[in-house]
Parts: sequence; structure tokens; C-alpha cells
Amino acid sequence: MGNNPLSLAWLRLPVESSLGRRFPEPAHSYRNPFQRDRDRILHSRAFRRLENKTQVFAPGLSDHFRNRLTHTLEVTQIARTLAGVLELDQDLTEALALVHDIGHPPFAHAGEDELNHQMKSYGGSFDHNMHSLRIVESFETRYALFPGLNLTFEVREGMVKHSRDFEAGEIKELDAYLPGQRPPLEAQLIDQADEAAYNTSDLDDAHSAGLFQIEEAVAEVDALREIFEAIEISYPAAQPRIQFLECLGRLINLLVTGIAEGTNKATREAGVQTVADIRRHPMRLVQYSERALIANRQIKTFLSNRVYYSPALLAEREQAVKRIADLFQFYMQYPGRLPEPHRTQATESSRHQVVCDYIAGMTDGFCAKLHLELID
Ligand code: MG
Repeated sequence: MGNNPLSLAWLRLPVESSLGRRFPEPAHSYRNPFQRDRDRILHSRAFRRLENKTQVFAPGLSDHFRNRLTHTLEVTQIARTLAGVLELDQDLTEALALVHDIGHPPFAHAGEDELNHQMKSYGGSFDHNMHSLRIVESFETRYALFPGLNLTFEVREGMVKHSRDFEAGEIKELDAYLPGQRPPLEAQLIDQADEAAYNTSDLDDAHSAGLFQIEEAVAEVDALREIFEAIEISYPAAQPRIQFLECLGRLINLLVTGIAEGTNKATREAGVQTVADIRRHPMRLVQYSERALIANRQIKTFLSNRVYYSPALLAEREQAVKRIADLFQFYMQYPGRLPEPHRTQATESSRHQVVCDYIAGMTDGFCAKLHLELID
């Protein structure tokens, strides 16, 4: 890899420089700490629950839609590819990609918005990144010597800085995570890998659900039009769905390559030499190339206009909001109906936080079943 023009190997976060774990542990004989974190995340209960959490399209209409687990695996593959070509730490990147959606509540964004809405009336809020941190810090219980998964500092920092940076004093619980500093490139990659994955997979799922024809997307996304014109010349007789999937593969490649090239360019132009420089730089340096940035923006606009608020998703959304709201109110009124350890916790700390955490951990299926039992 000595002549890899995209390499940023000198900006890799070396695992030897890790600030370590909250509770010190003896080293493993052949897995380094980031590899062990990756494995702990993969073996957690919260990770397995992703299988029964909606990404965008609820199951039922099709067996082929992404759920939050398959979405997570797609993000992980893209993030690993990026870390590989940029020659950053693939293990840290992989751990962060696998954990990035672990705090997502049931019923996708509708569920998240409604939990936040419920919490607001008690002076609180719900944020899935903060919930992720609580999962790995306390809710996962499988080790005798410590609560949670005892992940390295860098994985926890990457989790809380997944989609935003914060200043000292802004969020009290996060003051230990280098406020005011950017996370390392490995962590910055996750946000863009996430976008590249869901923008293209949402196009795929929406197309297979019949929400649009390829010509409609081509009219609004310039990069897709260029790709489609080439595909039509190469495969004029192919089925429209096959033509679409051929386009989609090239679109993912355009976006991912755009992240690698854009990041390489931004990093060189910023003149950063070390991981410390990355941390001190005023902006995140994982960026799209100009072409990929425009493509990404146009896809987002198309998805917002044609997919995310489409009538096909509206009924699911309304049902999700009702289930979350009903259960939240039910447990606020009857905390004795919470299972242990939540019941005891609800008497010790703020009840709305305990109720919120309990509901946020549910899968879609469990939440629907409970709603049927307790409310309907
Ligand atoms: Mg995601």
C-alpha cells in the first residue's frame, strides 16, 4: 500500500494510544482493545434487538426491506472499506459502526420523536446517542466485575460524538469526553458511512415498494442521471428493476469514493499532521468530494419529498406515535406495572427517565405486543 494516493496512515489512531477502559482489565493475548470492544458490542443483547427495529419501512409489505440490523451491517461494511482505503484503524471504525444505532428506540424516527416529545413534558429529552451510551455503560449486564461493557474511551467518545460535537458544560454527562474537540477520523467516518448507506438503501427499499419509478429519481439527482444514461447504453434490454440496481451499485461507489477523496483532500489542505491536530481542527475533516456532496444532497431532497412523508409511511408513523405515547403514559400512571429492575428504579430516580429507558430498549414487536396487552 506504499503508493496508495488516498492513504492517511499517519492520522490513524494507534490502539496503543487508547486512554483505556473505565475498569482496567488484563490484556488479551491476541485481540487488541478495539477488537475486543467490537466483539463485546456484537455479543450484546441490544445489538441483537436491532433485528426487530424498523429502519424506514416496517416489515410486512416486503421481506426484503432493511431493518436496523441489516442497515448497521451495511454501514459497517462501508465504514470498513473507507478505513481500509484511508489506512485508518479498521477495528475502531468497525466497533463504532456496529454500535452506531444501538440506542435507537422502536419504530424508527417516529418512535424517537415521540419519546422526545413525551420526555419534554417532564423537562427531559430523548437522544439516541445518549441512550446508546447508557446501554453500554450500565444497561448491558454480563460481566461480574463491572456494569455495562466497559468499552474503551475512544469507542465511547465516538458514540457520543456520532453526529455532533459539543462544548464544555453543554451536556454535563459528556464533559469527560473531550468537549470542544473533534473525534478522530475513524469516528468521523461513521456519520458519512451511515448517510451513504441509508441514502442508497432507502432509494432501493422505496423503489421496491413502488413509491417511485427510476425516471423520477433521475430527473432530480444529476449523478443518477449520468449513471442511468450509461446503464441504458450498456444494458438496454435489462428489466427496469435490474437497471435500477445497477445504477444503485454505482451510486454507492460514487458516494463512498467521494468520501475517501473528499476526506483526503480536506485533510491535506488543512495541513493536519497528527491525531492531535485532527482533534484541534475547528471542523470535521471527513468530507465529501464536491460531486458526491451534490449527489448526496439531491438524494436527500428526493427522499424527503417522495419517500419519508409519503402516505404509504404515514399510517405506520401514526400507529408508532400512538403506541409509544400510550405506553409512556400508562407506565407514568402505573409504575408498579414495570418489570424489575425498572420498577425499583422508578421509585429511586426520576420516573420519566426510567419509563423512557424501558420503552427505548423495546423492539418494535415487543412494543406492539405490550400495547395490545396493556392498552387495547
Ligand atoms: Mg444509522
